[in-house]
Amino acid sequence: MSPQPPEQLANPPEDSRQPRPPADADRQAEVIIVGAGPIGLELAVVLKHMGVDYLHLDAGQVGQTVTRYPQQTRFFSSPERIAIAGVPLTLSDHNRASREQYLAYLRSVVQQFDLKVNTFERVTDIKQSDGEYRFTLHTDRRGTPHTYQAKHLVLAVGDMHGPRKINVPGEDLPHVSHYFDEPHRYFNQRLLIVGGRNSAVETALRCYHAGAQVSLSYRWGGFDERLVKYGILPEIKALIEHERVKFYPYTLVREITAEHVVLEDSGLRGQDAGPGVTDLATTPAEASGELTHVPADFVLLLTGYVMNTELFAMAGVELVGENCSPKHDLSTMETNVPGLYVAGTAAAGTQVRFRLFIENCHPHVAKIARNITGQQPPMHLINQAAKQFALPES
Ligand SMILES: Cc1cc2nc3c(=O)[nH]c(=O)nc-3n(C[C@H](O)[C@H](O)[C@H](O)COP(=O)(O)OP(=O)(O)OC[C@H]3O[C@@H](n4cnc5c(N)ncnc54)[C@H](O)[C@@H]3O)c2cc1C
Repeated sequence: MSPQPPEQLANPPEDSRQPRPPADADRQAEVIIVGAGPIGLELAVVLKHMGVDYLHLDAGQVGQTVTRYPQQTRFFSSPERIAIAGVPLTLSDHNRASREQYLAYLRSVVQQFDLKVNTFERVTDIKQSDGEYRFTLHTDRRGTPHTYQAKHLVLAVGDMHGPRKINVPGEDLPHVSHYFDEPHRYFNQRLLIVGGRNSAVETALRCYHAGAQVSLSYRWGGFDERLVKYGILPEIKALIEHERVKFYPYTLVREITAEHVVLEDSGLRGQDAGPGVTDLATTPAEASGELTHVPADFVLLLTGYVMNTELFAMAGVELVGENCSPKHDLSTMETNVPGLYVAGTAAAGTQVRFRLFIENCHPHVAKIARNITGQQPPMHLINQAAKQFALPES
């Protein structure tokens, strides 16, 4: 018997790769979630399970923040802590998840729960009014404006919207970047990395192994073991000690030119860098206040990220402290604007010393779902791993 064409099958099998129905447009919803990172997605699963009419928007793809990690980066959090919605994140190599593995995992969660996300649709404006649907959102989807209204609004927009600029001449030159993508580009090149936290140290190691001539400038004299993955500290220390990676401790960038980077003394020598920092500065001459010229073909400024708080500000949310964190009630995640909630790492504002990660944001989901619906959320769909015992990463 010849095989039937698919359209003649009585019950064609569901194929999740079929084109999805058109995205929702210009409608009212009980709840709008902005942001389809891990926490926004976990909340969507819970609201869907509870029968809430919600709409989900993201300026990029699901997991957009994770797509910006360098290729093959591994999470520092263990897999069971970054799993969402009760779906195990099981890895055959028993290692930490890579960027690629986690993105595949997020896609599978979206498919498993058949979540509808309006991707590549940025929220550009939020207005409040007196009616039942008190939030009006304006969006831009591939150049076309849309308008939505909601009774409740959840901003799960993350905290990594742009690089922390160092504001020096030359920062915008073409060989200078705030993002590391992959190491091959730096093979046989003189690369100066600025920064001393995990991203900078990990990038230094990966580029060194890819054949780059790596230098590292940091405003402190050594690395804080609370801010760098445990496994990589011994190696970077050994490479610095043996001058395979040239370390410029207590330095700040003053200027970047096409040929070199001018470093100046950070003035932090002798100041308390906090517990867990081993001073690696062995060359007192570099504390002299003189300028150091470091030849560089490429410069990576890995000095952290800042949060864009515009959406919160335009909705009337108060921004608190030097982190500009959205003011909210810790027991409900509701901000000072009634009906407007913050979820995920956005709750911390621009993080200087990280205190919110995926793993300790899962409880936001239960709090928000409970407060919006007045019902107990399905706890089996919310990750409880971080509650069970603390790890040093927590
Ligand atoms: C290299 C690297 C390694 C990391 N490793 C870890 C780790 O091991 N463990 C950990 O917990 N965290 C880690 N992080 C941080 C991690 O990415 C965040 O903790 C996590 O993504 C936060 O999840 P979230 O759901 O709160 O927000 P996000 O994942 O940041 O999601 C926010 C979403 O909101 C969307 N959005 C923002 N503005 C708008 C708008 N105006 N309109 C519509 N959508 C919008 C964004 O596109 C994004 O998809 C790492 C970060 C980096 C850079």
